[in-house]
Amino acid sequence: MKIFILSSGEYGSKIVNGIATHGFASNIIGIHEFPSSDDLPEFIDDISSYIPENIPESDLIIAVGLYGDINMVIPEVVKKSGAKSVIAPIYHPKQLPLGLQNEIINELDDNTTIVFPKPFCGLTPIGDEFIDKFTEIFGRPRFEIETDSESEEIDLDSNISSIKVIRGAPCGSSWFIAENLNGVSVKDAEFEANNKLHNFPCVASMATDNATGDTILHIASYRTKEAIKRALGFTCKVPMVDEEACEGFEECENACLNSCPNVLTGVETIYYNDDGKAVIDPASCGVCEICIHECPYGAIEVYEERVNIKKDNE
Ligand code: SF4
Ligand code: SF4
Repeated sequence: MKIFILSSGEYGSKIVNGIATHGFASNIIGIHEFPSSDDLPEFIDDISSYIPENIPESDLIIAVGLYGDINMVIPEVVKKSGAKSVIAPIYHPKQLPLGLQNEIINELDDNTTIVFPKPFCGLTPIGDEFIDKFTEIFGRPRFEIETDSESEEIDLDSNISSIKVIRGAPCGSSWFIAENLNGVSVKDAEFEANNKLHNFPCVASMATDNATGDTILHIASYRTKEAIKRALGFTCKVPMVDEEACEGFEECENACLNSCPNVLTGVETIYYNDDGKAVIDPASCGVCEICIHECPYGAIEVYEERVNIKKDNE
């Protein structure tokens, strides 16, 4: 697989470094560095002067850290490289708004697949040869965890004895988290993984994203905590819907579903059962509590108790 990277700014550099360090160094056949957003005009009328001169024949284009109109180089780079697969991750609410995403899609031919994961560590396989190959190493994190528990179902008093990254965030944070979780109590693992993500530090934005009602950095932390929960097979804190109190989505016009930042980034964290009552997936839920405030019937409450989760064998 031949990867050509379009990069800009601190975010771009961190991702390039992560991809080269933890996976596809020998697959990177070129990197084109664009000026940072501070050195570019807000509106670019003529994108042609920004198209790289030497564009190698490629399979996968990854555009990281390009902010605003400069992203319109993507269709031309795709055309000249012959690539059919593109990943353009979103790290900031204003970086690649929906209108700009649609403009890029409209310029691409029907045989090109482009994804805009928000953030990059939300990327999962989608049935595209090269994007899926990339997700063998990078995307929504997955860990394999061993503990010193003596029982088959992990004992809450046990500690992590080894942790391995199966798939990691392209910035490299998952490998940093894995290096630092040995010996941590299984009960504190989610919390500690979240701290380590912030210490790394995660380069996703802390600005509120109007499209999701949350920050992109928080969404990154939900993906990391989900990976820990799925590897351990349980969580100790989760919001649950009281079926008696839930009036169903028709009465509340999907209040919880429409406000959940995970659902708004394509993750099925809230869904409905056959009676039309909401159900929360404890694995992907980030416990942001937004749905709790949005439910007009007060039907959702946070419980601090062990809830088992099917282990991740994807
Ligand atoms: S607490 Fe509610 S809104 Fe937040 S992630 Fe969980 S289900 Fe979604
Ligand atoms: S939990 Fe509340 S917001 Fe969600 S479907 Fe039920 S009534 Fe609506």
